[in-house]
Amino acid sequence: MDPTEVVIPDALKPSDGRFGSGPSKVRRAQVEALVPEAVRYLGTSHRQSPVRSMVGRLREGCGDLFSLPEGYEVLVGVGGVTAFWDAMVFSLIRSKSQHLVFGEFSSKFSEAVALCVHLSEPDVVSSDFGTHPEPEPRAGIDVYALTHNETSTGVAAPVRRPASDGLVAVDATSAAGGMRVDPSEFDVYYFSPQKCFASDGGLWVALCSPAAIERIEMIGDSDRYVPPSLDLLIALANSRSNQTYNTPALATLHMMVDQIEWFLQNGGLDWAAGRSNESAETLYSWADSHELAAPFVTDAEKRSPVVGTIDLDDSVDAGRVAATLRANGIVDTESYRKLGRNQLRIGMYPAVDPEDVAALTACIDHLIGAFV
Ligand SMILES: *Cc1c(COP(=O)(O)O)cnc(C)c1O
Repeated sequence: MDPTEVVIPDALKPSDGRFGSGPSKVRRAQVEALVPEAVRYLGTSHRQSPVRSMVGRLREGCGDLFSLPEGYEVLVGVGGVTAFWDAMVFSLIRSKSQHLVFGEFSSKFSEAVALCVHLSEPDVVSSDFGTHPEPEPRAGIDVYALTHNETSTGVAAPVRRPASDGLVAVDATSAAGGMRVDPSEFDVYYFSPQKCFASDGGLWVALCSPAAIERIEMIGDSDRYVPPSLDLLIALANSRSNQTYNTPALATLHMMVDQIEWFLQNGGLDWAAGRSNESAETLYSWADSHELAAPFVTDAEKRSPVVGTIDLDDSVDAGRVAATLRANGIVDTESYRKLGRNQLRIGMYPAVDPEDVAALTACIDHLIGAFV
């Protein structure tokens, strides 16, 4: 198979060929906004006002974007969501958590908890990939770990409090900024910058309710050993003064703030989620009506508006489609490696122009026509 064999006509191609699920498309304007900052902001101390005011804009912007109620606080730290899972192991879970596992990412957090000696064995509620489980409220669970969007499978799950007094911690890495959410339904809603926020990886942001802050303070005052870089009490104190405990990536911060403010200037979360909804409507209706393609997630309600997974008929090699798209400058449509399906996975974060998703389906049609 030679991926350069089929040339897609320029007229069919999207204006931008990046459809990755993370890292994902960064808008050109976000990059250009960095250039005038080259001497004022880049390469300057993160303890001084140019960078601290950027952290402040990030925290304030998140408060506006998510309409956070009084008392909720925005925490920022270094290490991405994977590090934040470890921070929750030390600083948020008191003794036992329940994990809804329905893909690679939700499974990773439960595994990080299972390795930990100071916590009880986590309670894992799982379902087949392509679906999502429901929480099962039980006595003694002090954190319910939900995932708003399972990036590995393209399944979106509701953010709703179970009938229990445990805290609700939601992995929103790929959902935040592209899906609507009601803050009264969560205690911690956490994410990284490289998905809907169209920036680079390496930071984590956590929107925390007063109950979550109380838990962080309670564990911080206990005699549990907590490594400082994973200590959310330290992160809380730093965030309150618009700093991070250790050095953040300044360009990443800047591009993320640009994206948050772009959302806010255009109408906020409703507008941003609306763009992803429009892209998803285009993708799924194309696949639904196609003889050789079908959405992997059969229940339309569970289909993600931000990451679309499309199964192709066995007569079309999805790997060949993705490789040929790549050779034509349209990248990162490969399926999640561990899912092992004949599938394409398409990132439809708000930065992606909905018209480009329509163009992408035309390009896939062109390749299917050439291959079958
Ligand atoms: C990308 C992703 C992660 C991992 O984020 P990092 O910033 O790379 O640690 C975790 N959870 C979900 C749902 C993701 O999509």
